[in-house]
Amino acid sequence: RAAFTGKSLRKTYVTGETEVHALRGVDLEINAGEILVLLGPSGSGKSTLLNIIGGLDRPTSGELWYDGKELTALDEADLTRFRRANIGFIFQFYNLIPSLTAEENVRLVTDISDRPMNPAEALELVGLQDRRHHFPAQLSGGEQQRVAVARAIAKRPGVLLCDEPTGALDSTTGVRVLETLANANRELGTTLILITHNAGIAAMADRVFNFLDGQIASIEVNQNRVAAS
Ligand code: ADP
Ligand code: ADP
Repeated sequence: RAAFTGKSLRKTYVTGETEVHALRGVDLEINAGEILVLLGPSGSGKSTLLNIIGGLDRPTSGELWYDGKELTALDEADLTRFRRANIGFIFQFYNLIPSLTAEENVRLVTDISDRPMNPAEALELVGLQDRRHHFPAQLSGGEQQRVAVARAIAKRPGVLLCDEPTGALDSTTGVRVLETLANANRELGTTLILITHNAGIAAMADRVFNFLDGQIASIEVNQNRVAAS
């Protein structure tokens, strides 16, 4: 089943006299429940695509569909509703609110969701139930990122978008965060789309889209994962 279908997606940024063609006609299908890695050199269009998929930005032309709905035809209010209901974001830097505890940070999201998890349950899924009342400054980088994962999954989004989720972490801590993400994929069926240079993530992906110069130059399929699912 397709989660996203993209047709001839183009994105051109115009800055003064300069045009940058960030996406040059991308066609894609992303399957519901898959782990997809976007790989490629800096400037090849990965973040631009992630932002468009997440409804943070719009393509200059082309169509994007999610679950039978054309996102590129929605007005701002409906696009925001789509994003709130379906998308969780995880960035390289955890973006937690320092004056709130782990549980309160998660509650920010669950308070405005339709069918949220209990914040304690979300923290349990990332293995941090005993750190519920800690403030971000009292947690390690990896623990802070796991709180960010708990916050992102607490509203049960169909899709988690991660931009270098382990980029600020050492490799051991990064692995723990990856396990947490893989767990959300397995337990909740969450579609995971990740930008990463971490080889460990590419190894756990169902597919890797190799970006080059605003296009998907090739797609690698991980046969082991496909056989396992
Ligand atoms: P690159 O992918 O070339 O390494 P960056 O990591 O600097 O680029 O940025 C990737 C994307 O994430 C950009 O589209 C940027 O707008 C967005 N971004 C960067 N920092 C933040 C932040 N703190 N909060 C939200 N979005 C961010
Ligand atoms: P990646 O994530 O693969 O590093 P990006 O999608 O961030 O690539 O960027 C693709 C191209 O678009 C780059 O040349 C970048 O400089 C340009 N770009 C990205 N965001 C903007 C923006 N807001 N304004 C102008 N150019 C941008």
